[in-house]
Amino acid sequence: MNVNQHSSHPDQDPFGLSAFSDGLYIGGAWRPAAGEGRIEVIDPSTEAVIAAVPDATLADAATAVEAAASAAESWRETPPRKRSEILRRCFELMVERSETLARLISLENGKALRDARGEVAYAAEFFRWNAEEAVRISGEFGIAPAGGNRIVVDYQPIGICVLITPWNFPAAMATRKIAPALAAGCTVILKPASETPLTAYALAALYEEAGVPPGVVNVMTTSTPVPVIAAMLADPRVRKLSFTGSTGVGRTLLAEAAKNVISCSMELGGNAPFIVFDDADIDAAIEGLMVAKMRNAGEACTAANRIYVQSGIHDAFAEKFTRRMAALRVGPGVDPDTECGPMITRKAVEKIERLVADAVSRGGHVLCGGRTLAGRGFFYPPTVLVDVAPASDMGCEEIFGPVAPLYRFETEAEVIAAANDTEYGLAAYIYTRDIGRGMRVASKVEAGMIALNRGLVSDPAAPFGGVKQSGLGREGGQHHGIAEFMEAKYIATSF
Ligand code: NAD
Repeated sequence: MNVNQHSSHPDQDPFGLSAFSDGLYIGGAWRPAAGEGRIEVIDPSTEAVIAAVPDATLADAATAVEAAASAAESWRETPPRKRSEILRRCFELMVERSETLARLISLENGKALRDARGEVAYAAEFFRWNAEEAVRISGEFGIAPAGGNRIVVDYQPIGICVLITPWNFPAAMATRKIAPALAAGCTVILKPASETPLTAYALAALYEEAGVPPGVVNVMTTSTPVPVIAAMLADPRVRKLSFTGSTGVGRTLLAEAAKNVISCSMELGGNAPFIVFDDADIDAAIEGLMVAKMRNAGEACTAANRIYVQSGIHDAFAEKFTRRMAALRVGPGVDPDTECGPMITRKAVEKIERLVADAVSRGGHVLCGGRTLAGRGFFYPPTVLVDVAPASDMGCEEIFGPVAPLYRFETEAEVIAAANDTEYGLAAYIYTRDIGRGMRVASKVEAGMIALNRGLVSDPAAPFGGVKQSGLGREGGQHHGIAEFMEAKYIATSF
């Protein structure tokens, strides 16, 4: 296969990039960065430069905090119904523009168009959900047990929020933060990943059109996140850091935020076990695994990273699953026939090569794939391995690619211990026809989210997040997502 047969490089400007690639979006205006620097955006399918965005400096960080502070008072005083209607309009515009947004995501991220369409639908849903939640933020009222005073609890917007997002879901990771923050009455500064800034800027233009007032959402790209984010977190008006990204960077940011005791929400890395018991519906489990492993070509925090198959069905499962993986069409994300797009960067491919080489050196056998594809673009083929040693690097690290290692197990106790033998605890998948066992294992596996006989957990109406070193706090859900952007104020009174 020649992955370069379908060029994804646009001849014209179908995404309107020229309208926003010249400025940071601060205070409702597109402003040039204080410095001269630019950040090039690469199409991972072709390695071509598709755009260059401004590179914010410390001076821009100060301007962005100022803009968010200037808008804070009037936004928190905006009636919830009005805030709700603006969020609803963001949802409607995202749905109207979904095809263009999906193509832009595919172009800069490389993911298959079908995955990008799914992402836009998911990302838009955070606006609809939080438009509905914005008018249901209520307080509490009680009587102190000892009598006398009354306890009034008022939930107030936490203050200015700094939001940092990764490249793997350029739209959804941003809207999952922006929508609840705005519903809560906060103003925000978003720093998207440098690999995929175009979606974030395209959405900023859309929010403006939907009626989000100037300064309520600010978006800035920088190649020097360490000093730029530190400068923002040092400003006492910033009270919230919401980060989605790797556990390593999350640790660094927690330490930075500790200096001003800033509230942190952390959506970090995962190492999801996918457990298939002998009594499972094998076809349903393979269907689920195709989603849990191959959505976004494996570049998802919830991706199945360790696949445990009970010994009675292991070989049959491996054979059927390998047939499905080997048949996937690899190609540029924007090609509608593509089922597995490229990785985000050359470095990501090199990491996968290292993990596969390590697994093979410790006795793992490759059933399909296993070799980087030649030609331009960062392509790695769908790969299945068996007999992988549990101590292999790919058992301990996020693979973040289309590589599925299978591990054989015998007993329920053994697989629970293996599943929990990691510092991560984001998602886990369990397939069994015995619902009692399913619920028992679900309660013992250390993860924030369990998919029982399903390959997908994400839903804006459900609390998304991890335990252990996969994170702190939750996004989405009935009250969890908004609560991250509010403080409880207790008023004691008596009458
Ligand atoms: P990353 O941690 O390298 O970067 C994430 C963001 O942080 C980017 O915007 C990056 O520019 C910025 N950043 C990097 N170093 C920084 C620093 N020192 N200070 C401030 N900002 C900094 O992660 P990534 O490679 O972009 O994304 C992949 C990771 O994200 C994976 O580990 C994946 O599991 C995780 N992820 C988690 C979730 C979740 O909900 N738990 C969702 C998606 C991705």
